[in-house]
Amino acid sequence: MKSSSKPASKACLLSLFAGFFLAFPPAALGQYSREELAYRLVSQGYKQLNSRNYREAIATLKEVLKQGPSRYSAGALAAIGSAHRSLKEYPEAISALRESLRVNPREKEAYYTFACVYLDTKRYEDALAALERFKLLAESKRELKDAEDLGKQISAYRYMEPAELAIKQGRNLVAKDLLLQAAKEDPSPFSGVIHRQLAYVFRNLGNSSQAIEECQTALKFEPKNKSVNYTIGLCYKDLGQVDNAIAYLKRFAESEKDAEEKAKAREFIEDLEHDRELLAAPVSDSPDYLDALLANGKVHRWAKTAMPLRVYIGRGEGLTGYRENFPQFAFKAFDSWVRASGGLLQCVLVDRPQDSDIELEWTVEDLFKEEDDGKKRRAAGITHMQPATEAYSSFNSNPACWAVGHAKIRIQTINCFSREECTDDDILSTCLHEAGHALGIGGHSAYFSDIMFFGVSNKQLPALSKRDKATIVRIYQSEN
Ligand SMILES: [Zn+2]
Repeated sequence: MKSSSKPASKACLLSLFAGFFLAFPPAALGQYSREELAYRLVSQGYKQLNSRNYREAIATLKEVLKQGPSRYSAGALAAIGSAHRSLKEYPEAISALRESLRVNPREKEAYYTFACVYLDTKRYEDALAALERFKLLAESKRELKDAEDLGKQISAYRYMEPAELAIKQGRNLVAKDLLLQAAKEDPSPFSGVIHRQLAYVFRNLGNSSQAIEECQTALKFEPKNKSVNYTIGLCYKDLGQVDNAIAYLKRFAESEKDAEEKAKAREFIEDLEHDRELLAAPVSDSPDYLDALLANGKVHRWAKTAMPLRVYIGRGEGLTGYRENFPQFAFKAFDSWVRASGGLLQCVLVDRPQDSDIELEWTVEDLFKEEDDGKKRRAAGITHMQPATEAYSSFNSNPACWAVGHAKIRIQTINCFSREECTDDDILSTCLHEAGHALGIGGHSAYFSDIMFFGVSNKQLPALSKRDKATIVRIYQSEN
């Protein structure tokens, strides 16, 4: 997800000051007066401000004030405020702006800069109020237009900011409502971002058709943003429309400049081409997928005498993307399977990996799982199973279905494709999937709603499906 975008109000502000400067009448001819010196200094200060030499601008503009009161004092103070704002020195900016308005309560640039400072510091209501004051004082259509654009940015940003937080927390419904509010400001400088985020959220909510529409809207606002094609490709994949998915991913790969991203997209296209047959395979309406697993020798059951299974859940402090709540998701994942088994499976947590039957560790490393045909595929998590050393009978008298002696799960702390932060739902889904492997489901389901589906699908809720539950029950119910 590409979600980070900051208000682009700086450019507006600079042009505003440039216009302000040009509006100054030339100084009177004749000998140097205090006013004329102030005028020269203030001109120089604005020039420095416009060329982003903020420190120099502040020094020059302070010289203006040292000359004593002049008609340029309030303007110089407003410009000092603007320079501090650009340097993110907000208390200094606010005090200069206040002073400017004390000198001249009609100093409109001070109000405009106040709006920018409040926007930066997330005081959206104050920002809109300051902008209203500016509009009352605005003297040209250009200034009014600038104010309206900034107003739209503030109104949109007021919703985007909490939406971004909600996305991070996996609260997709909340994020959706906030983003729909933000989209009411369309067209705004943020429209592209807003609709891309809406696409992301709708896809998370399992509504990939709406996500595609949001992507198309985003493209109208940002025709050059080819990354949207990637998301459209993912959505078509969710919908089982593999050919459309491949077409959009190819479009993305062709336009992508970054070699690594390009290669990753190609890899994904290859995976899809490989999956095409699997995805096209008729999905049986059977209540579980045990038979398919057995047919491929993909069940590795724990012996009843091994219960309760000792589970060690590691911690990943300091790893990129890792958050404190990750172990809770791992715990929840095991708990979900235990509950689903109706008590046939039992787990206890242990404090040391060396005491465990199942060990779960977090990593930033890229993980690849190797399939039966030798194909390697990028994965959010992998589980390595070791056969039991004791001669447990294999499951269903199938020698391929050996009893498991130890399992090690590794889960990547960042999204394996985008390399951005994982949402809580991402982590829970991955934990559920890998715990399913560790608890005996050695293979995958061909149905996209199951947590044990062979690929990541946004049709999955971060929860076990009925078929997942029925499958684990059948594995541990059987006596042999
Ligand atoms: Zn898997």
